[in-house]
Amino acid sequence: MPTTTPTPADAPRRAGLGTWPTPLEPAPRLAEALGLAPDDLWVKRDDLTGLGGGGNKIRKLEWLCGAALADGATTLVTTGAPQSNHARLTAAAGARLGLDVVLVLAGAPGASGSGNLALDGLFGATVVWAGDVSGAALGPAAERVAERLRERGEVPALLPFGGSSVLGARGYAECGRELLGQAPDLTTVVTAVGSGGTMAGLVTALGSARVLGVHCGAVPDPAGTVSALASDLSGTDCAPQDLRLRLDQVGKGYGTLTEPVMAALTLAARTEGLVLDPVYTGRAMAGLVSAVEDGGIGPGQRTVFLHTGGLPGLFGHPAALAAAEAALAAGD
Ligand SMILES: *Cc1c(COP(=O)(O)O)cnc(C)c1O
Repeated sequence: MPTTTPTPADAPRRAGLGTWPTPLEPAPRLAEALGLAPDDLWVKRDDLTGLGGGGNKIRKLEWLCGAALADGATTLVTTGAPQSNHARLTAAAGARLGLDVVLVLAGAPGASGSGNLALDGLFGATVVWAGDVSGAALGPAAERVAERLRERGEVPALLPFGGSSVLGARGYAECGRELLGQAPDLTTVVTAVGSGGTMAGLVTALGSARVLGVHCGAVPDPAGTVSALASDLSGTDCAPQDLRLRLDQVGKGYGTLTEPVMAALTLAARTEGLVLDPVYTGRAMAGLVSAVEDGGIGPGQRTVFLHTGGLPGLFGHPAALAAAEAALAAGD
């Protein structure tokens, strides 16, 4: 008989969606290319969380979907940019759990149907286009969708932008603890920062000194966003000025491709066969490269790069695909 730990009736339950623990793999050739020792750099493979093509949103969705199921939800509703990985993985979670999914996305129909959007369609999600607003400003449109669903007798569960509520961020506090079991001597975990829940959870488990976040331009105030989530999650004050946050990789904005990001994508691919995406993990890797250059990360320290997924986004990003194709044509 398997033993189970009794759970208090009011404790939120996780829906089982992912494959745990995710691997922690060495990246010795990339480490040496960056000027680190071969054993300094490791990759936490949260791109390999399993469901729906994988990615960091699965850890948050386990908690968010657990709460939605407990509330008797029939439909998951969430928001995002057209190439939102969170929207794609919400669509996959809904398929797995037998729930309908409505995605409220910024933009207009006819925008590129590739990458994550193609998968949203395969998973059977309904897309509602909300017009030209930032991903983070889609809340009211999602509220209107939820209201219409209620009028039809459905029970909508509104999941936060990027899955980043205090509940969703719990998934990354767990990831932080998982990581400590795999690499007790870790000095720095480097992660992309979008809606902030991933960094907030890691900070809760590891402390702000061991987490380096790289802002990707998805929210206007990353430090305030992460510190508020981390404070609520940990129950202690997490000051924004204590966070290690790089703001230097946004370039001309969230969806745009920068030269350091394309260089980071190319380097990771050619040293480790590791595929990054142009919006999140490419920026995080470019931030890691800058941190090694300016001394924020040095040799002899155990550094972990958190691979948060995002591969479908590469196939929905014409500029990154063109840059990769150009490298091929030039025989580089
Ligand atoms: C959403 C996302 C992030 C950022 O995570 P947040 O918790 O939103 O900050 C990083 N990488 C990928 C691939 C993502 O999809």
